[in-house]
Amino acid sequence: MEASRLLKMLSKEVNLQILSVLRAGSFNPRELARILHRNETDVSRRLKALERMGLVEGKWVRIGGKNVRLYSLKVEGVNISFRPEGISIETSERKEYSLPLSGERAPEIGDFFGRKGEIELLRSSREGVIAVYGIAGIGKTSLAVKVFPEAFWYQAEETEGFDYFVWQLGIHLNALGFPHLLEYLRAGGRNERDEFELALRGIEETGATVVIDDLHRCRDEKMGRFLTFLAEGLKNGRVVLLSRERPSLGAENVLYLRLEGLDIKSAYGLFKARGGKADPREFAEVYRLTRGHPLAIVLFAQASSSGVDAGGNFFDFLMSEVYGRLTEKERLLLQILSLFDEPLEYEAIKALYPGRNVFAPLYALARKGLVERRGELYFIHDLIRGFVERVREVEPADYYGAYIDYLLRKGSARDFLRAFKYAVLLGDEGRIKALIGERLRRFKRVVQDFQGAYLSLLSEAPQIPQVRAEMGTVYFQRGFFEKALRIWLDVEGKLDGIFRADVLSSIADVYLELNDIEKAEEYLGKLRKVVEKNPDPEMELWYYVIRTKLHYYRGEVEKGLESAFKELNAVKRLGHYPELEALIYLHIGDIYSEMERPGEAIRYYLLALQVAKAYSLSFLEHTCYMELTKAYFHIGEYEKAVEEGDRAIDYFTRIRNYRRAVSTLGYHFLALLGLGELEKAEEDAKEMLRMAQGSNYPLAWAGYIFLAVIEKLRGGNWEEYLRLGRERLGDYPWLYEAVLEETARVVDVGEFKEK
Ligand code: ADP
Repeated sequence: MEASRLLKMLSKEVNLQILSVLRAGSFNPRELARILHRNETDVSRRLKALERMGLVEGKWVRIGGKNVRLYSLKVEGVNISFRPEGISIETSERKEYSLPLSGERAPEIGDFFGRKGEIELLRSSREGVIAVYGIAGIGKTSLAVKVFPEAFWYQAEETEGFDYFVWQLGIHLNALGFPHLLEYLRAGGRNERDEFELALRGIEETGATVVIDDLHRCRDEKMGRFLTFLAEGLKNGRVVLLSRERPSLGAENVLYLRLEGLDIKSAYGLFKARGGKADPREFAEVYRLTRGHPLAIVLFAQASSSGVDAGGNFFDFLMSEVYGRLTEKERLLLQILSLFDEPLEYEAIKALYPGRNVFAPLYALARKGLVERRGELYFIHDLIRGFVERVREVEPADYYGAYIDYLLRKGSARDFLRAFKYAVLLGDEGRIKALIGERLRRFKRVVQDFQGAYLSLLSEAPQIPQVRAEMGTVYFQRGFFEKALRIWLDVEGKLDGIFRADVLSSIADVYLELNDIEKAEEYLGKLRKVVEKNPDPEMELWYYVIRTKLHYYRGEVEKGLESAFKELNAVKRLGHYPELEALIYLHIGDIYSEMERPGEAIRYYLLALQVAKAYSLSFLEHTCYMELTKAYFHIGEYEKAVEEGDRAIDYFTRIRNYRRAVSTLGYHFLALLGLGELEKAEEDAKEMLRMAQGSNYPLAWAGYIFLAVIEKLRGGNWEEYLRLGRERLGDYPWLYEAVLEETARVVDVGEFKEK
């Protein structure tokens, strides 16, 4: 094995993240890319390289005539030994390796000076939340890296907000052995309380340290609520906030530290280390002017004179001197970088810089302390940006367009959001509309995974009808159906093509949710006209999805089935769309169930299951187990029903989807009853009642009816349980009837009806 190639591979953060996610099981590159917010091609390439090195193992599975690659971890660790004859590296099944995985990788710091008191204070503090605040360039980041070198690092950005943060945190906690938060998010769970609790528990159980850098940039209120929640609950783990302003989180369990300049001795040390030339006496003047501000001292070390006469803005004076000594190329690059308020990766800088060799000026700027590096990213300090903005000659419009194109080529959901931000900044309607078109086709999950961030970008351009329609979609996702409907009805007439098709299908869908079948039908008709005018498998698919649903609601199962097969046909023409394909199989299964044809239902559930497993779609996979539990129960295969039920119950309980957990528990109970396993069945009934207390989900109260059934079979006192069950289900008579009907398949409940 080539040792250096392996080491190089392991030195890449992304590769380590891939390996740590694979700990949880086998994954298809597509889903891995989604979890890590990276481009699928890039992830595939890395997996292949890791496979060549023997770290992961890929195998082909065949799904519906296509070969699909699934990867899993082949080794548990890598062992490096130093021997007289050289260094040897072995990958082994037995040995463990531990490398700090720090998410967005903490910045690298060079020599560090002073701050003894602050370091001591931070190290000995008992508070769960630490807030370090002070002006830009005062040394907050450097101090945090020094004290918490292994922390998970999160660089706050205006566009991203809490949704993105919590996802990254989920990946990190997963690597530390706490998979639950990531699993919850992947399943689409977005309940604020659940997210907060899982994040807190994850930080507590793993004892993680989380640093949120530049917190003042984050405008998402949810982040504030989260931090207050943490401050109340954290004991074992730790969260460090770096901010320009003092964050207000209350006083309990929060340590506030306001950072000032370095003392004169440390400042002089820094000055000399950065190449400054002045004797201590001359430096006294520099110190008087800078008051120990580290970034100013770094710049001073670059400037020629030490005793500057600083009338007006001292920092600008300093910068203009340093800036004046840069080469043309360095200035151009610095100006380009100043257009972006987020760190940029090398590839992006290469794409933006008009000259050929970007490395030379970039390296020079980094050496002079004007550009800093964070893992694979480069950025310029806010103070420096402020100056460059004032002398800048390049036009944002010339560069934002190129950056948008670059991001779209990369193609993850995060890249999409960034691209959108720059389109909004440009105020370019054409680009904004084109991006929304892309969202509808390629970035469907953005409205689910990044609701908050997307909504706040959208609200910057509310005059564009396409933007309004998108806002409606986010509201719909959040459960505000009426609000969404109002917006859509308002913009519907102003749109055409795919935008109109999207809104019409959404309107029809809400009407179905609101049980207004006639209206739903009216809009489905309008949608049909649009689709006829613009033949396109994507829109055709939307049409049939709604149509199937409509037929199903009306009880026209045959027609529903026919329409569902049309969906399948459209999705296949669309190309690679396993998520939708699996979902359609599942729906076909449901329709067959409704037609009381459980054999066929099972066939389609198994097809859905196969696709879901091959593409690591865990939520869908477990939904299949849930449906299979029911279907196997209906054909009297109780053992199989119990087996599938176990999987679904475990998963849905873990991701806190109590509705699905309870539905499965019900059939699991009945299957156990069918097998005569009364004790185990009793456990299910009690579990349902526990969930009823917590979630107040009506079906869960059927636990009382089930307890009554058990008591009756044992010849005990069952009437009281039945009374409780009827009382709790009093508002849902049809539910009570349905429960009795299903129960009657295994035991006689005639007496329950008379009561
Ligand atoms: P902030 O996070 O407050 O904006 P940084 O930590 O980024 O500030 O510091 C700004 C610059 O000063 C960086 O170039 C950093 O390397 C340098 N610096 C800050 N504190 C120290 C220190 N204690 N020792 C050495 N260099 C420091």
